[in-house]
Amino acid sequence: MIDIHAHYDDNAFDSDRYELLEELFTSKGVKAIINAGCNLESSLQSVKLAEKFDGVYAAVGYHPQEVDLFNEKDFETIKALLSHPKVIAIGEIGLDYHWVSDNKEQQKALFRKQLELAVETDMPVIIHERDCVADCLEIVLDYNVRGVFHAFSGSKETAKILLDRGWYISFPGTVTFKNAKHPVENAVFVPEDRILTETDSPYLTAHPFRGKRNDSGYMRYTIEKIAELRGISFEELERITEDNAKRLFRL
Ligand SMILES: [Zn+2]
Repeated sequence: MIDIHAHYDDNAFDSDRYELLEELFTSKGVKAIINAGCNLESSLQSVKLAEKFDGVYAAVGYHPQEVDLFNEKDFETIKALLSHPKVIAIGEIGLDYHWVSDNKEQQKALFRKQLELAVETDMPVIIHERDCVADCLEIVLDYNVRGVFHAFSGSKETAKILLDRGWYISFPGTVTFKNAKHPVENAVFVPEDRILTETDSPYLTAHPFRGKRNDSGYMRYTIEKIAELRGISFEELERITEDNAKRLFRL
C-alpha cells in the first residue's frame, strides 16, 4: 500500500514515531508514505523522516491554516528543499474556510504563490480544500499543474471538473464512515487511473477504528471498502493505487 498523505511529524507520534514507521514498513504492508508539510518546521521534519526511512517521501509547503507563519525568508528555504531527492511534491497547500475564514485574501495569495512555484519547478501539488470549493476551483484551474485533491469530500460534479483537467483524487478513511455520501459516490466514479488512497494520519481513521489515532496500517480498511464498492479485489485496487501514486509523484 502507498499512503499518499500523512503527518508523522505530528505530536501524536512523539512516543513511538520511529518504531511505528519501522513496523509499518516491515510488517503492515506499507510500501511508501508521503509525509506532508504544513509550514517550514513540519516541512523540515518531513524531510528528516524521508532521510531516515527509504519508504518515506516528503511534500513541503504551507497549509492554508498556517498562513500567519508565512514569510519570504522561510519560503526561500522551502524552495531550496524542492531540490532534495526525497522531496516529491509541494503540499499541503490550498484553502480552508472551515477553521479560518477572516483571512481569505491572504490564503488565496499564498495558494497562488505555491501553485506558481509548482509550475516553475514542474512539481506535483497536494491540495487541501475545506468549505471553499468555488474559490479553490477558480484558482486551481488557472494553473497548468498536476496533482491530487487530498481527503476529497466534494460532490461528483466537482470531481468531474477536476478529473477533466487531469487531477487525481484521494480518499482517506472517511469513505468507510456510516454517514459517507460523497466519498462513497466518488469512490466508484473516479476512474481507475486517477484514484489514490491516504490516511491523513493521525486523523480520519477508518471504521471500525474511527476516533483512534490513525496510521498507514489502517489504510487497508479504506482500500477494502473502495474495492468492495468498485467490485474488484483488495489486491487489484492496491495495485491500481500504487501505480497511480508512482506515476503522479515519480516515486
Ligand atoms: Zn493533511
